[in-house]
Amino acid sequence: MEKKMPYDSNNIFARMLRKEIPYHKVFESPHVLAFYDINPKAPCHVLVIPKGPYVSWADFSEKATSEEISEFVKSVDKITQDLGLQEKGYRLISNHGAHASQEVPHFHLHILGGEPLGPLLSNKK
Ligand code: AMP
Repeated sequence: MEKKMPYDSNNIFARMLRKEIPYHKVFESPHVLAFYDINPKAPCHVLVIPKGPYVSWADFSEKATSEEISEFVKSVDKITQDLGLQEKGYRLISNHGAHASQEVPHFHLHILGGEPLGPLLSNKK
């Protein structure tokens, strides 16, 4: 994925933001939406997205306003608190591009928790 790849407004998260596709909401604020992953990889698997049209972490970092970035970071902290993940711990993952197998070209952060998550990558030492 190139940093300057144009945003595809038909990606599934953009359609969720337009309420064309249902989702199980966890949190919403002016610039942020969080919902449960449809194919959870842990007992608790939540996706956090900015509402703005950003493809990846790089795109978000380059183009988002300070307000959007601050709200996003603080929202992730609030969500992990609200979900009761802070005591036992959780993992944050953001996939960017082909080597990370990014499926949806709208920037998102995975929050994973609810059980011991094991090594960072299952196919690596
Ligand atoms: P990534 O590989 O980082 O792009 O992850 C995309 C994630 O989006 C995957 O974990 C999918 O299970 C999840 N996903 C795809 N469609 C939906 C949907 N309609 N609702 C919730 N999560 C979804």
